[in-house]
Amino acid sequence: MVSERTCAVELLTWFYHHGRDMPWRVKGGAHFDPYAVWISEIMLQQTTVKTVVDYFVRWMQLFPTIETLAAADLEKVLLAWQGLGYYTRAKKIHACAQVLVQQYQGKIPADRETLLKLPGIGPYTASSICCFAFNMPETVVDGNVIRIMARLYGLTHAVKREEIYQKAVRFTPPDKGADYASAIMDLGATVCTPSKPSCPICPWRQYCLACQQGIAEQIPLIVKPPKKEKKGSLWLVQNQEGGFLIRQRSGKGLLSGLFEFPWGYEEESPLFSRDFPLGKQIVHVFTHVKLTLDIYTLSVQTNPLSEGIFVKPEDFQKYPFSTLMRKVIRLIDTRKRS
Ligand code: SF4
Repeated sequence: MVSERTCAVELLTWFYHHGRDMPWRVKGGAHFDPYAVWISEIMLQQTTVKTVVDYFVRWMQLFPTIETLAAADLEKVLLAWQGLGYYTRAKKIHACAQVLVQQYQGKIPADRETLLKLPGIGPYTASSICCFAFNMPETVVDGNVIRIMARLYGLTHAVKREEIYQKAVRFTPPDKGADYASAIMDLGATVCTPSKPSCPICPWRQYCLACQQGIAEQIPLIVKPPKKEKKGSLWLVQNQEGGFLIRQRSGKGLLSGLFEFPWGYEEESPLFSRDFPLGKQIVHVFTHVKLTLDIYTLSVQTNPLSEGIFVKPEDFQKYPFSTLMRKVIRLIDTRKRS
């Protein structure tokens, strides 16, 4: 194989011609606004670029600076995040903005160790911020980099992130950290795709062992743990005015702060009677769990719980709901129309 330095130069040349344009990216060095880099990096965790673009643009209009974000109500922040999932990210962004205002004059520190002390910023995000916002020679290892490196070196075993990092770090140019990281991610997203990679147009085709051996699509070997299955019940509790009972989830869990229709797991004692099944189920897949909820209906005069409010369907958009609960809202809409 040719030297890593030559590979990096060839990839950068490809990137300057074929790299994607994105609202949080510039070509030719660091982005002018580290805040935009930070927000985009958090949004892009577990979410595709295509989905993130609209959310990012809207977010920057709603909260154009770290100060405006820090001063906003959490509920407004969650509403802006609605549909992106993994709401802990939004809560930590909000908390982090407040720390940045209180302790760092509203600026994002250009230092990996300091970044790691902030809420919601782990090693990957810290490296990405250093790289894209400050053009440091950080080696960012995401799924694209893992796939490309595994194929380039023809690694047919289940690779570990550290093993890939040790290879990838040798490619990172000292003076073009931001462009190089964008380049390799774009190569993974547009050329070295998980299935049907476009090897004939790849700038690294003459060095790539997987391509030469015709085994690119079998690499990397991914061993996924089986998802746990959970079941539960959800009640559409309606009052005489046509409002549905919703409540705000408390505590510190994944979905805390969001609104939901009353529901519980199968193993918990049921909130209400299961006498009126709707004959519908909502299935939602979280990272490690597949949850199936049977839907029940209940008509009431007053709120049978000590919490929650009745809200008419036309007002649902005023409240932040999780993706799971928005599936329930779609079910209510479908029933209204039929
Ligand atoms: S040659 Fe093919 S498999 Fe190898 S890095 Fe390029 S696109 Fe991926």
